[in-house]
Amino acid sequence: MINNLKNITKCSCGHTIDDPMIVAKTKYSKWGWFLLSMAFSAMPKEVVFQCQQCGDIIDTSTDPDVLEKYRYNSDISK
Ligand SMILES: [Zn+2]
Repeated sequence: MINNLKNITKCSCGHTIDDPMIVAKTKYSKWGWFLLSMAFSAMPKEVVFQCQQCGDIIDTSTDPDVLEKYRYNSDISK
């Protein structure tokens, strides 16, 4: 039996990483928040991919390229 779905993560309501319902959000360290509040540009420490419908986080990344790509996205805590 071939399991093609092995590496496809779905949230509780069935969305995958390619679905528009899955939105990348940034996570900052406390130091990052401090820099942001001082109007410096801080890089997030992590990007998470969260379903806007059920709130599940189906993937995270700390890859510098991914952090750069999504650094202006809204923060997960908002
Ligand atoms: Zn969902």
